[in-house]
Amino acid sequence: MKILALPLVAILLLISLSPVAADEIKVKTSGGTQKIGSEGSGDLAYYSLSALNEIMGGRLGWNRAGYSVQFDLNGNRFGFVVGSPYVNLNDTVYNIILPARVLRGELFIPAGTFTPILNLACPENVTWDGGGATLRIDSEWYNVTDVTIAAKQNGVLIEIFMPSPLKFEIYESEGNWLNIDFPGGRINRGKILSAINTRHVRKINAFQFDSSAQVSFRLRRNYKKFHHSYKTDPGRLQIAIEDARFNPDSAISNLNRIGPDEKIDVIVIDAGHGGKDYGAIGRHKKTREKDINLEIAKNLAKMIRKDKQFKVIMTRSKDKYVSLDDRARIANEAKADLFISIHCNSSPKQSANGFQVFYLAPAKNDAARAAAQLENAPFLLDNAAVDKQEEGDLAFILNDMIQTEFITESADLAYMADIEMRKRLKIRPRGVDHAGFFVLNSVYMPSILVEAAFISNKNEEKKLRDKKYRKKVAESIYETVKRFKAKYERI
Ligand SMILES: [Zn+2]
Repeated sequence: MKILALPLVAILLLISLSPVAADEIKVKTSGGTQKIGSEGSGDLAYYSLSALNEIMGGRLGWNRAGYSVQFDLNGNRFGFVVGSPYVNLNDTVYNIILPARVLRGELFIPAGTFTPILNLACPENVTWDGGGATLRIDSEWYNVTDVTIAAKQNGVLIEIFMPSPLKFEIYESEGNWLNIDFPGGRINRGKILSAINTRHVRKINAFQFDSSAQVSFRLRRNYKKFHHSYKTDPGRLQIAIEDARFNPDSAISNLNRIGPDEKIDVIVIDAGHGGKDYGAIGRHKKTREKDINLEIAKNLAKMIRKDKQFKVIMTRSKDKYVSLDDRARIANEAKADLFISIHCNSSPKQSANGFQVFYLAPAKNDAARAAAQLENAPFLLDNAAVDKQEEGDLAFILNDMIQTEFITESADLAYMADIEMRKRLKIRPRGVDHAGFFVLNSVYMPSILVEAAFISNKNEEKKLRDKKYRKKVAESIYETVKRFKAKYERI
Protein backbone atom coordinates (compact mmCIF):
# COMPACT_ATOMS: atom_id res chain seq x y z
CA MET A 1 0.00 0.00 0.00
CA LYS A 2 2.05 2.83 -1.36
CA ILE A 3 -0.29 5.51 -0.16
CA LEU A 4 0.55 4.81 3.46
CA ALA A 5 4.07 5.99 2.78
CA LEU A 6 2.81 9.45 1.91
CA PRO A 7 2.86 12.12 4.58
CA LEU A 8 -0.52 12.79 6.14
CA VAL A 9 -0.63 16.26 4.62
CA ALA A 10 -0.35 14.79 1.14
CA ILE A 11 -3.19 12.34 1.82
CA LEU A 12 -5.44 15.15 3.03
CA LEU A 13 -4.52 17.18 -0.01
CA LEU A 14 -5.42 14.27 -2.35
CA ILE A 15 -8.80 13.85 -0.65
CA SER A 16 -9.63 17.52 -0.90
CA LEU A 17 -8.73 17.57 -4.61
CA SER A 18 -10.91 14.59 -5.54
CA PRO A 19 -14.30 15.52 -7.07
CA VAL A 20 -17.42 15.63 -4.99
CA ALA A 21 -20.03 13.12 -6.24
CA ALA A 22 -19.43 13.26 -9.99
CA ASP A 23 -22.34 12.36 -12.31
CA GLU A 24 -22.62 8.88 -13.77
CA ILE A 25 -24.21 7.21 -16.76
CA LYS A 26 -25.01 3.52 -17.25
CA VAL A 27 -23.17 1.36 -19.74
CA LYS A 28 -25.16 -1.77 -20.61
CA THR A 29 -23.33 -4.69 -22.17
CA SER A 30 -24.13 -8.39 -22.44
CA GLY A 31 -21.95 -8.75 -19.34
CA GLY A 32 -24.18 -6.48 -17.25
CA THR A 33 -24.48 -2.81 -16.34
CA GLN A 34 -21.62 -0.61 -15.21
CA LYS A 35 -21.45 3.04 -14.33
CA ILE A 36 -18.94 5.52 -15.69
CA GLY A 37 -18.24 9.14 -14.96
CA SER A 38 -20.28 11.71 -16.85
CA GLU A 39 -21.05 15.40 -16.85
CA GLY A 40 -24.27 17.19 -17.77
CA SER A 41 -27.46 15.50 -18.92
CA GLY A 42 -29.81 15.09 -21.86
CA ASP A 43 -28.44 16.56 -25.08
CA LEU A 44 -25.51 18.01 -23.20
CA ALA A 45 -24.38 14.76 -21.57
CA TYR A 46 -20.69 13.93 -21.79
CA TYR A 47 -18.98 10.71 -20.82
CA SER A 48 -15.46 9.94 -19.73
CA LEU A 49 -13.46 8.47 -22.58
CA SER A 50 -10.97 6.75 -20.29
CA ALA A 51 -13.77 5.06 -18.31
CA LEU A 52 -15.37 3.92 -21.56
CA ASN A 53 -12.02 2.65 -22.75
CA GLU A 54 -11.80 0.50 -19.60
CA ILE A 55 -14.98 -1.25 -20.65
CA MET A 56 -14.31 -1.48 -24.38
CA GLY A 57 -10.69 -2.53 -24.16
CA GLY A 58 -9.01 -0.02 -26.44
CA ARG A 59 -5.87 2.10 -25.96
CA LEU A 60 -5.85 5.71 -25.01
CA GLY A 61 -2.93 8.12 -25.03
CA TRP A 62 -2.38 11.84 -24.57
CA ASN A 63 0.13 13.76 -26.62
CA ARG A 64 3.01 15.24 -24.67
CA ALA A 65 1.69 18.80 -24.69
CA GLY A 66 -1.60 17.55 -23.27
CA TYR A 67 -4.05 18.95 -25.81
CA SER A 68 -4.84 15.95 -27.98
CA VAL A 69 -5.86 12.38 -27.35
CA GLN A 70 -5.45 9.33 -29.54
CA PHE A 71 -7.90 6.47 -28.95
CA ASP A 72 -7.32 3.10 -30.64
CA LEU A 73 -10.22 0.66 -30.71
CA ASN A 74 -10.69 -2.55 -32.73
CA GLY A 75 -8.05 -1.51 -35.24
CA ASN A 76 -9.53 1.95 -35.67
CA ARG A 77 -7.95 5.24 -34.57
CA PHE A 78 -9.78 8.24 -33.16
CA GLY A 79 -8.14 11.63 -32.68
CA PHE A 80 -9.54 14.30 -30.36
CA VAL A 81 -8.33 17.82 -29.67
CA VAL A 82 -9.23 19.39 -26.35
CA GLY A 83 -11.73 22.22 -26.91
CA SER A 84 -12.49 21.12 -30.48
CA PRO A 85 -15.87 19.86 -31.76
CA TYR A 86 -14.15 17.70 -34.39
CA VAL A 87 -13.10 14.09 -34.12
CA ASN A 88 -10.94 12.26 -36.58
CA LEU A 89 -11.70 8.58 -37.26
CA ASN A 90 -9.31 6.77 -39.59
CA ASP A 91 -8.50 10.04 -41.39
CA THR A 92 -12.11 11.12 -41.79
CA VAL A 93 -13.18 14.17 -39.78
CA TYR A 94 -16.60 14.25 -38.07
CA ASN A 95 -18.28 17.20 -36.38
CA ILE A 96 -19.55 16.34 -32.90
CA ILE A 97 -21.00 19.84 -32.37
CA LEU A 98 -19.87 20.15 -28.76
CA PRO A 99 -16.18 20.40 -27.92
CA ALA A 100 -14.20 17.64 -26.21
CA ARG A 101 -13.51 18.81 -22.65
CA VAL A 102 -11.09 18.03 -19.88
CA LEU A 103 -12.70 17.52 -16.47
CA ARG A 104 -10.97 16.17 -13.38
CA GLY A 105 -7.95 15.34 -15.52
CA GLU A 106 -9.91 13.17 -17.97
CA LEU A 107 -11.21 13.72 -21.49
CA PHE A 108 -15.01 13.96 -21.72
CA ILE A 109 -16.84 13.52 -25.01
CA PRO A 110 -20.40 14.57 -25.96
CA ALA A 111 -22.48 11.38 -25.80
CA GLY A 112 -25.29 12.19 -28.23
CA THR A 113 -23.15 13.20 -31.17
CA PHE A 114 -20.10 11.02 -30.63
CA THR A 115 -21.82 7.64 -30.04
CA PRO A 116 -22.87 7.15 -33.70
CA ILE A 117 -19.25 7.69 -34.70
CA LEU A 118 -18.02 5.36 -31.98
CA ASN A 119 -20.44 2.78 -33.38
CA LEU A 120 -18.60 2.82 -36.72
CA ALA A 121 -15.53 1.42 -35.00
CA CYS A 122 -17.24 -1.30 -32.97
CA PRO A 123 -18.23 -4.86 -33.81
CA GLU A 124 -21.16 -4.40 -31.42
CA ASN A 125 -24.06 -2.02 -31.96
CA VAL A 126 -23.45 1.02 -29.78
CA THR A 127 -26.32 3.41 -29.12
CA TRP A 128 -26.96 6.30 -26.76
CA ASP A 129 -30.21 6.74 -24.88
CA GLY A 130 -30.11 10.31 -23.58
CA GLY A 131 -33.37 10.08 -21.59
CA GLY A 132 -32.21 6.98 -19.73
CA ALA A 133 -28.61 8.24 -19.54
CA THR A 134 -27.54 4.84 -20.88
CA LEU A 135 -24.96 3.73 -23.40
CA ARG A 136 -25.91 0.33 -24.86
CA ILE A 137 -23.26 -1.97 -26.29
CA ASP A 138 -25.27 -4.78 -27.86
CA SER A 139 -23.60 -7.70 -29.57
CA GLU A 140 -26.84 -9.63 -30.25
CA TRP A 141 -28.41 -6.98 -32.37
CA TYR A 142 -27.19 -7.90 -35.85
CA ASN A 143 -28.86 -10.02 -38.49
CA VAL A 144 -25.85 -9.94 -40.81
CA THR A 145 -23.05 -10.97 -38.55
CA ASP A 146 -19.91 -11.90 -40.43
CA VAL A 147 -18.21 -12.55 -43.76
CA THR A 148 -15.60 -15.07 -44.84
CA ILE A 149 -13.68 -15.10 -48.09
CA ALA A 150 -12.09 -18.38 -49.15
CA ALA A 151 -9.96 -19.21 -52.17
CA LYS A 152 -11.02 -22.24 -54.14
CA GLN A 153 -9.32 -23.96 -57.02
CA ASN A 154 -11.41 -22.19 -59.62
CA GLY A 155 -12.50 -19.04 -57.89
CA VAL A 156 -13.53 -17.47 -54.65
CA LEU A 157 -16.28 -18.32 -52.23
CA ILE A 158 -17.74 -15.47 -50.21
CA GLU A 159 -20.02 -16.38 -47.34
CA ILE A 160 -22.16 -13.80 -45.59
CA PHE A 161 -23.49 -15.09 -42.31
CA MET A 162 -27.01 -14.33 -41.13
CA PRO A 163 -28.61 -16.34 -38.34
CA SER A 164 -31.96 -16.35 -40.15
CA PRO A 165 -32.85 -15.93 -43.83
CA LEU A 166 -32.98 -12.32 -44.92
CA LYS A 167 -34.06 -10.68 -48.16
CA PHE A 168 -31.15 -9.65 -50.33
CA GLU A 169 -30.36 -8.33 -53.76
CA ILE A 170 -27.05 -8.89 -55.53
CA TYR A 171 -25.85 -6.65 -58.32
CA GLU A 172 -22.61 -5.74 -60.02
CA SER A 173 -21.31 -2.26 -60.58
CA GLU A 174 -18.44 -0.49 -62.33
CA GLY A 175 -14.95 -1.31 -61.09
CA ASN A 176 -15.47 -5.03 -60.29
CA TRP A 177 -17.79 -4.29 -57.42
CA LEU A 178 -20.21 -6.96 -56.29
CA ASN A 179 -22.88 -5.43 -54.07
CA ILE A 180 -25.41 -7.05 -51.80
CA ASP A 181 -28.30 -5.04 -50.44
CA PHE A 182 -30.15 -6.25 -47.36
CA PRO A 183 -33.51 -4.54 -46.81
CA GLY A 184 -33.99 -4.57 -43.05
CA GLY A 185 -30.37 -5.60 -42.66
CA ARG A 186 -28.42 -4.73 -39.51
CA ILE A 187 -24.79 -5.42 -40.24
CA ASN A 188 -21.89 -5.99 -37.92
CA ARG A 189 -19.67 -3.54 -39.75
CA GLY A 190 -16.56 -4.03 -37.67
CA LYS A 191 -16.55 -7.77 -38.15
CA ILE A 192 -17.42 -7.65 -41.86
CA LEU A 193 -14.75 -5.10 -42.67
CA SER A 194 -12.10 -7.17 -40.91
CA ALA A 195 -12.78 -10.16 -43.22
CA ILE A 196 -10.69 -8.55 -45.95
CA ASN A 197 -8.57 -11.03 -47.89
CA THR A 198 -6.58 -8.79 -50.17
CA ARG A 199 -5.41 -11.56 -52.46
CA HIS A 200 -8.88 -11.91 -53.94
CA VAL A 201 -10.81 -8.90 -52.78
CA ARG A 202 -9.32 -5.45 -53.05
CA LYS A 203 -11.75 -3.74 -50.71
CA ILE A 204 -14.90 -4.35 -48.68
CA ASN A 205 -17.47 -1.66 -47.98
CA ALA A 206 -20.23 -2.01 -45.46
CA PHE A 207 -22.93 0.60 -44.99
CA GLN A 208 -25.63 0.68 -42.37
CA PHE A 209 -28.63 2.77 -43.39
CA ASP A 210 -31.79 3.40 -41.38
CA SER A 211 -33.86 0.62 -42.92
CA SER A 212 -31.32 -1.36 -44.94
CA ALA A 213 -27.68 -2.28 -45.21
CA GLN A 214 -25.22 -2.88 -47.99
CA VAL A 215 -22.08 -4.96 -48.22
CA SER A 216 -19.83 -4.56 -51.25
CA PHE A 217 -16.77 -6.43 -52.43
CA ARG A 218 -14.31 -4.99 -54.88
CA LEU A 219 -12.79 -8.00 -56.59
CA ARG A 220 -9.24 -8.14 -57.80
CA ARG A 221 -10.37 -8.48 -61.37
CA ASN A 222 -13.28 -8.91 -63.66
CA TYR A 223 -15.12 -12.18 -63.28
CA LYS A 224 -17.30 -14.09 -65.62
CA LYS A 225 -20.05 -15.47 -63.46
CA PHE A 226 -21.21 -16.08 -59.97
CA HIS A 227 -23.90 -18.18 -58.34
CA HIS A 228 -25.49 -17.70 -55.00
CA SER A 229 -27.66 -19.65 -52.61
CA TYR A 230 -28.76 -19.59 -49.01
CA LYS A 231 -27.45 -22.35 -46.73
CA THR A 232 -28.55 -23.26 -43.25
CA ASP A 233 -26.72 -24.51 -40.19
CA PRO A 234 -25.23 -21.90 -39.86
CA GLY A 235 -27.44 -19.62 -41.94
CA ARG A 236 -25.43 -17.90 -44.65
CA LEU A 237 -25.55 -16.54 -48.15
CA GLN A 238 -22.94 -18.17 -50.36
CA ILE A 239 -21.65 -16.36 -53.39
CA ALA A 240 -19.37 -18.46 -55.55
CA ILE A 241 -17.40 -16.43 -58.04
CA GLU A 242 -15.97 -18.60 -60.75
CA ASP A 243 -12.77 -17.39 -62.29
CA ALA A 244 -10.08 -19.81 -63.36
CA ARG A 245 -7.62 -16.93 -63.51
CA PHE A 246 -7.66 -16.43 -59.79
CA ASN A 247 -5.00 -19.10 -60.03
CA PRO A 248 -4.31 -19.68 -56.36
CA ASP A 249 -0.88 -20.88 -55.39
CA SER A 250 -0.09 -24.55 -54.87
CA ALA A 251 -0.62 -24.33 -51.13
CA ILE A 252 -4.34 -24.14 -51.66
CA SER A 253 -4.65 -26.04 -54.92
CA ASN A 254 -5.90 -29.10 -53.07
CA LEU A 255 -8.92 -27.19 -51.83
CA ASN A 256 -12.31 -28.22 -53.05
CA ARG A 257 -13.55 -26.70 -56.21
CA ILE A 258 -16.67 -24.65 -56.34
CA GLY A 259 -19.30 -25.07 -59.04
CA PRO A 260 -21.02 -28.19 -60.31
CA ASP A 261 -18.23 -30.48 -59.16
CA GLU A 262 -18.95 -29.60 -55.58
CA LYS A 263 -22.27 -31.37 -55.49
CA ILE A 264 -22.60 -34.00 -52.82
CA ASP A 265 -24.23 -36.65 -54.92
CA VAL A 266 -21.99 -39.69 -55.24
CA ILE A 267 -22.46 -41.95 -52.23
CA VAL A 268 -20.44 -45.10 -51.65
CA ILE A 269 -22.13 -47.74 -49.53
CA ASP A 270 -19.73 -50.26 -48.14
CA ALA A 271 -21.22 -53.49 -46.82
CA GLY A 272 -18.57 -54.72 -44.39
CA HIS A 273 -16.84 -58.09 -44.87
CA GLY A 274 -18.09 -60.64 -47.47
CA GLY A 275 -17.05 -63.90 -49.10
CA LYS A 276 -14.36 -65.66 -47.11
CA ASP A 277 -14.47 -62.89 -44.52
CA TYR A 278 -17.62 -63.55 -42.49
CA GLY A 279 -17.17 -60.74 -40.00
CA ALA A 280 -18.59 -61.50 -36.58
CA ILE A 281 -20.91 -64.43 -35.96
CA GLY A 282 -24.10 -64.25 -33.89
CA ARG A 283 -23.85 -66.28 -30.72
CA HIS A 284 -27.37 -67.69 -30.77
CA LYS A 285 -28.48 -68.10 -34.36
CA LYS A 286 -25.04 -68.11 -35.95
CA THR A 287 -26.03 -65.05 -37.98
CA ARG A 288 -23.19 -63.95 -40.20
CA GLU A 289 -22.31 -60.27 -40.00
CA LYS A 290 -21.46 -60.12 -43.71
CA ASP A 291 -25.06 -61.06 -44.62
CA ILE A 292 -26.68 -58.50 -42.34
CA ASN A 293 -24.31 -55.79 -43.54
CA LEU A 294 -25.22 -56.57 -47.14
CA GLU A 295 -28.96 -56.53 -46.42
CA ILE A 296 -28.77 -53.11 -44.78
CA ALA A 297 -26.51 -51.80 -47.55
CA LYS A 298 -28.90 -52.97 -50.26
CA ASN A 299 -31.83 -51.46 -48.42
CA LEU A 300 -30.00 -48.15 -48.14
CA ALA A 301 -28.89 -48.23 -51.78
CA LYS A 302 -32.48 -48.73 -52.87
CA MET A 303 -33.66 -45.74 -50.83
CA ILE A 304 -30.93 -43.44 -52.04
CA ARG A 305 -31.31 -44.52 -55.67
CA LYS A 306 -34.98 -43.60 -55.61
CA ASP A 307 -33.86 -40.08 -54.74
CA LYS A 308 -32.73 -38.84 -58.13
CA GLN A 309 -30.27 -36.30 -56.73
CA PHE A 310 -27.85 -39.07 -55.72
CA LYS A 311 -25.76 -41.69 -57.42
CA VAL A 312 -24.95 -44.83 -55.43
CA ILE A 313 -21.92 -47.06 -55.69
CA MET A 314 -21.68 -50.25 -53.64
CA THR A 315 -18.32 -51.76 -52.85
CA ARG A 316 -20.10 -55.12 -53.07
CA SER A 317 -23.66 -55.99 -53.94
CA LYS A 318 -23.35 -59.71 -53.36
CA ASP A 319 -21.57 -62.11 -51.06
CA LYS A 320 -18.02 -61.75 -52.26
CA TYR A 321 -14.69 -60.90 -50.73
CA VAL A 322 -13.45 -57.38 -51.37
CA SER A 323 -10.16 -56.32 -49.80
CA LEU A 324 -10.07 -53.11 -47.79
CA ASP A 325 -7.67 -51.66 -50.34
CA ASP A 326 -10.16 -52.34 -53.09
CA ARG A 327 -13.01 -50.80 -51.16
CA ALA A 328 -11.03 -47.59 -50.75
CA ARG A 329 -9.94 -47.69 -54.40
CA ILE A 330 -13.55 -48.06 -55.59
CA ALA A 331 -14.58 -45.02 -53.56
CA ASN A 332 -11.61 -42.92 -54.59
CA GLU A 333 -11.91 -43.73 -58.28
CA ALA A 334 -15.59 -42.85 -58.23
CA LYS A 335 -14.62 -39.49 -56.68
CA ALA A 336 -17.32 -40.22 -54.17
CA ASP A 337 -18.55 -37.50 -51.87
CA LEU A 338 -19.43 -39.73 -48.93
CA PHE A 339 -18.32 -43.16 -47.80
CA ILE A 340 -20.54 -45.14 -45.48
CA SER A 341 -19.37 -48.46 -44.15
CA ILE A 342 -21.97 -50.74 -42.57
CA HIS A 343 -21.10 -53.27 -39.89
CA CYS A 344 -22.41 -55.07 -36.82
CA ASN A 345 -20.54 -54.94 -33.57
CA SER A 346 -19.40 -57.92 -31.53
CA SER A 347 -17.98 -58.45 -28.09
CA PRO A 348 -16.92 -61.38 -25.93
CA LYS A 349 -19.18 -59.78 -23.34
CA GLN A 350 -22.66 -61.11 -24.12
CA SER A 351 -24.35 -58.15 -22.51
CA ALA A 352 -22.61 -55.58 -24.73
CA ASN A 353 -25.32 -53.80 -26.71
CA GLY A 354 -26.33 -50.74 -28.71
CA PHE A 355 -25.58 -49.00 -31.98
CA GLN A 356 -22.58 -46.81 -32.56
CA VAL A 357 -21.08 -44.56 -35.21
CA PHE A 358 -17.37 -44.12 -35.80
CA TYR A 359 -15.27 -41.75 -37.81
CA LEU A 360 -11.58 -41.96 -38.32
CA ALA A 361 -9.09 -40.41 -35.97
CA PRO A 362 -6.41 -41.90 -33.76
CA ALA A 363 -8.16 -44.39 -31.49
CA LYS A 364 -8.67 -42.69 -28.18
CA ASN A 365 -9.93 -45.48 -25.97
CA ASP A 366 -9.78 -49.23 -25.66
CA ALA A 367 -13.32 -49.90 -26.86
CA ALA A 368 -12.77 -47.89 -30.00
CA ARG A 369 -9.44 -49.65 -30.51
CA ALA A 370 -11.08 -53.05 -30.10
CA ALA A 371 -13.78 -52.19 -32.61
CA ALA A 372 -11.13 -51.00 -35.04
CA GLN A 373 -9.12 -54.16 -34.58
CA LEU A 374 -12.16 -56.27 -35.30
CA GLU A 375 -13.03 -54.42 -38.47
CA ASN A 376 -9.44 -54.20 -39.61
CA ALA A 377 -8.94 -57.95 -39.41
CA PRO A 378 -9.23 -58.45 -43.20
CA PHE A 379 -6.47 -55.92 -43.66
CA LEU A 380 -4.29 -58.19 -41.58
CA LEU A 381 -5.28 -61.13 -43.77
CA ASP A 382 -4.33 -59.15 -46.84
CA ASN A 383 -1.02 -57.98 -45.47
CA ALA A 384 0.51 -60.89 -43.65
CA ALA A 385 3.78 -59.01 -43.37
CA VAL A 386 2.36 -56.50 -40.93
CA ASP A 387 4.31 -56.58 -37.73
CA LYS A 388 2.29 -58.07 -34.91
CA GLN A 389 3.82 -55.56 -32.53
CA GLU A 390 2.41 -52.64 -34.46
CA GLU A 391 -0.94 -54.26 -34.91
CA GLY A 392 -1.60 -53.76 -31.22
CA ASP A 393 -1.83 -50.01 -31.29
CA LEU A 394 -2.79 -49.71 -34.93
CA ALA A 395 0.17 -47.46 -35.57
CA PHE A 396 0.49 -48.87 -39.05
CA ILE A 397 -3.02 -47.85 -39.89
CA LEU A 398 -2.50 -44.34 -38.75
CA ASN A 399 0.76 -43.74 -40.57
CA ASP A 400 -1.07 -42.37 -43.51
CA MET A 401 -3.53 -39.82 -42.27
CA ILE A 402 -4.98 -38.90 -45.62
CA GLN A 403 -8.31 -38.70 -43.94
CA THR A 404 -7.29 -35.94 -41.53
CA GLU A 405 -8.40 -33.48 -44.15
CA PHE A 406 -11.97 -34.64 -43.68
CA ILE A 407 -12.04 -35.25 -39.95
CA THR A 408 -14.33 -32.33 -39.24
CA GLU A 409 -16.81 -33.34 -41.92
CA SER A 410 -16.57 -37.00 -40.95
CA ALA A 411 -17.23 -36.20 -37.32
CA ASP A 412 -20.18 -34.06 -38.32
CA LEU A 413 -21.50 -36.85 -40.52
CA ALA A 414 -21.10 -39.28 -37.62
CA TYR A 415 -23.02 -37.03 -35.23
CA MET A 416 -25.80 -36.59 -37.76
CA ALA A 417 -26.05 -40.38 -38.16
CA ASP A 418 -26.11 -40.80 -34.40
CA ILE A 419 -29.02 -38.35 -34.10
CA GLU A 420 -31.01 -40.04 -36.86
CA MET A 421 -30.41 -43.50 -35.42
CA ARG A 422 -31.47 -42.34 -31.96
CA LYS A 423 -34.75 -41.20 -33.49
CA ARG A 424 -35.51 -44.58 -35.05
CA LEU A 425 -33.73 -47.39 -33.25
CA LYS A 426 -35.03 -48.47 -29.89
CA ILE A 427 -31.71 -49.79 -28.65
CA ARG A 428 -29.03 -48.15 -26.56
CA PRO A 429 -27.09 -45.36 -28.27
CA ARG A 430 -23.39 -45.80 -27.58
CA GLY A 431 -22.65 -42.41 -29.08
CA VAL A 432 -20.09 -41.26 -31.57
CA ASP A 433 -16.51 -42.34 -31.30
CA HIS A 434 -13.40 -42.29 -33.38
CA ALA A 435 -11.06 -45.08 -34.20
CA GLY A 436 -8.40 -46.02 -36.69
CA PHE A 437 -10.32 -48.01 -39.26
CA PHE A 438 -8.13 -48.75 -42.21
CA VAL A 439 -10.91 -48.58 -44.75
CA LEU A 440 -11.89 -45.13 -43.55
CA ASN A 441 -8.32 -43.99 -43.36
CA SER A 442 -7.59 -44.42 -47.04
CA VAL A 443 -10.63 -42.84 -48.63
CA TYR A 444 -10.40 -39.25 -49.74
CA MET A 445 -13.81 -38.12 -48.56
CA PRO A 446 -15.88 -37.73 -45.42
CA SER A 447 -16.61 -41.21 -44.15
CA ILE A 448 -18.18 -43.07 -41.28
CA LEU A 449 -18.53 -46.60 -40.07
CA VAL A 450 -21.89 -47.59 -38.61
CA GLU A 451 -22.24 -50.49 -36.19
CA ALA A 452 -25.95 -51.26 -36.49
CA ALA A 453 -26.16 -53.32 -33.26
CA PHE A 454 -24.29 -56.10 -31.41
CA ILE A 455 -24.59 -59.37 -33.28
CA SER A 456 -23.07 -61.03 -30.22
CA ASN A 457 -26.01 -59.93 -28.08
CA LYS A 458 -28.98 -62.32 -28.14
CA ASN A 459 -31.60 -59.59 -28.23
CA GLU A 460 -29.84 -57.53 -30.84
CA GLU A 461 -29.00 -60.49 -33.04
CA LYS A 462 -32.76 -61.00 -33.20
CA LYS A 463 -33.24 -57.37 -34.19
CA LEU A 464 -30.58 -57.58 -36.87
CA ARG A 465 -32.41 -60.57 -38.34
CA ASP A 466 -35.60 -58.48 -38.47
CA LYS A 467 -36.26 -56.78 -41.80
CA LYS A 468 -38.01 -53.86 -40.09
CA TYR A 469 -35.00 -53.11 -37.90
CA ARG A 470 -32.63 -53.21 -40.87
CA LYS A 471 -34.92 -50.84 -42.75
CA LYS A 472 -34.83 -48.41 -39.85
CA VAL A 473 -31.04 -48.44 -39.87
CA ALA A 474 -31.08 -47.74 -43.61
CA GLU A 475 -33.64 -44.95 -43.19
CA SER A 476 -31.49 -43.31 -40.53
CA ILE A 477 -28.47 -43.30 -42.81
CA TYR A 478 -30.45 -42.05 -45.80
CA GLU A 479 -31.71 -39.14 -43.70
CA THR A 480 -28.13 -38.47 -42.59
CA VAL A 481 -26.95 -38.27 -46.20
CA LYS A 482 -29.66 -35.76 -47.04
CA ARG A 483 -28.85 -33.64 -44.01
CA PHE A 484 -25.16 -33.67 -44.82
CA LYS A 485 -25.84 -32.64 -48.40
CA ALA A 486 -28.01 -29.75 -47.25
CA LYS A 487 -25.32 -28.53 -44.91
CA TYR A 488 -22.16 -28.95 -46.94
CA GLU A 489 -23.00 -28.72 -50.59
CA ARG A 490 -21.40 -25.77 -52.31
CA ILE A 491 -23.01 -24.12 -55.26
ZN1 LIG B 1 -17.64 -55.69 -39.22
